[in-house]
Amino acid sequence: MTNVLKKEDYIRAVPKEYEFKEKGILPITDELYQYILKVTSNEPELMKELRIDTHNNSQMVMQSSPDQGQFMALLVKLVGAKKILEIGTFTGYSTLWMASALPEDGKIIACDVSEEWTSLGQKYWKLAKVDHKIDLRIAAAEDTLEVLKKSGYSETFDIVFIDADKSNQSLYFEYAIDLVRSGGLIIVDNVLWGGKVIDTAHNDIDTVGVRSLNEKLKHDKRVEISMLALGDGVTLARKI
Ligand code: CA
Repeated sequence: MTNVLKKEDYIRAVPKEYEFKEKGILPITDELYQYILKVTSNEPELMKELRIDTHNNSQMVMQSSPDQGQFMALLVKLVGAKKILEIGTFTGYSTLWMASALPEDGKIIACDVSEEWTSLGQKYWKLAKVDHKIDLRIAAAEDTLEVLKKSGYSETFDIVFIDADKSNQSLYFEYAIDLVRSGGLIIVDNVLWGGKVIDTAHNDIDTVGVRSLNEKLKHDKRVEISMLALGDGVTLARKI
């Protein structure tokens, strides 16, 4: 039982500023995060390889964590999704998790601008034998979204996952609202944007884009939302 945290280890892992009593929030230390992974993570070997391959090939911190991937797969099953739209695919790690959770006749339309990054994903989608569920569209996301809207895809997706350039966060959300069915789920990634959302020194277009959508959603009567401190922050929005 060496890999189970003992009570004294757990207490040591909790930071001094632990304010659970007052705020009902537990700050997640490295030790607690490792614990979460240890007791929950069931990341399949292929997904782990893709994650490491991405890490070795990219300087960018754009990839979802294993616990987030697993959470997305669970959402796919909870929603009973058959049609998913992914705006921003990168190396296809989240795509792989979601495709694996879809039924055999399920489909993901995956939008990205990069042949280079998505080709890494395509290799693993094939290895995992889920490539037939993924329809990759290489183009500016706005162009693909406009094509989908004009060709009868409005209100047809069960899940829309927004994880592309953050400056267009609000624009993609408007397309998502159009394209997702009533009762369907919009998942917005990186809503805490490395903490920059609360740092007034950061006013670049991406940070402003993330902040701007975050602040609008609370009063958006078209959706019910919850923001989770998972990964880099994830907002779930159910279309009413
Ligand atoms: Ca992301």
